Amino acid sequence: MNYIIEKSPRVSLAIKGRDQHFPVARIYCVGRNYAEHSREMGDDPDRDPPFFFCKDASCVVPVFFDEVNTITYPSMTSQFEYEVELVVALGKGGANLTMEQANDAVLGYAIGLDMTRRDLQSQAKKKGRPWEIGKSFSQSAPISPIFLKQDLPDDAVSRSQIVLKVNGEVKQSSYIANLTWSIEEVVCKLSEAFELRPGDLIMTGTPENVGPVVTGDVMEASIEGLGKISVQVVSPS
Ligand code: MN
Repeated sequence: MNYIIEKSPRVSLAIKGRDQHFPVARIYCVGRNYAEHSREMGDDPDRDPPFFFCKDASCVVPVFFDEVNTITYPSMTSQFEYEVELVVALGKGGANLTMEQANDAVLGYAIGLDMTRRDLQSQAKKKGRPWEIGKSFSQSAPISPIFLKQDLPDDAVSRSQIVLKVNGEVKQSSYIANLTWSIEEVVCKLSEAFELRPGDLIMTGTPENVGPVVTGDVMEASIEGLGKISVQVVSPS
């Protein structure tokens, strides 16, 4: 193919324990998927169906275990917030998947941070504008290597604790079992709205107690059974 400009590279994530990589297609995010987080954002968790938004695949920062990774404090915000999330990686796609097909489509799991320019997201909400400016910006999705489902014990993550610490202090703490919509239900619902592709990532939502970080802060995100990642916020050079 004779491209008129250089073709953008596709972001990929390492597969834990294997010499293989996962090429990222799209990133779908679940808006509110823990009851306590819905309440803190002003919604009724019992009534609201799940909703989705997207981050561009180029937002991914592949992060690694056993090292302090860095992201740059973004422009235009004074309220840069963390949201720790279980990330689901799809190995198969399709539309209108059954629960069984949804389960089969899940290739693996990762630990992710849905970093948010909360002040810009809040303004967008108030004005009925799109969320991209608050959600889909450079380096807004630090994500760990992917653990293949087949390499994990059965039911490895569905009851795991999920925790986010900042500078060693616990900020968010919940259990994957508290998801309003389960992993399979999320994949099912999403596949009704979009024809899913292999390579798609789903950020499954954050528990309560989201909050801000400033330059220099170190976030430590962990999911029982997967491990923990460290990400430091650095100033733009
Ligand atoms: Mn989120």
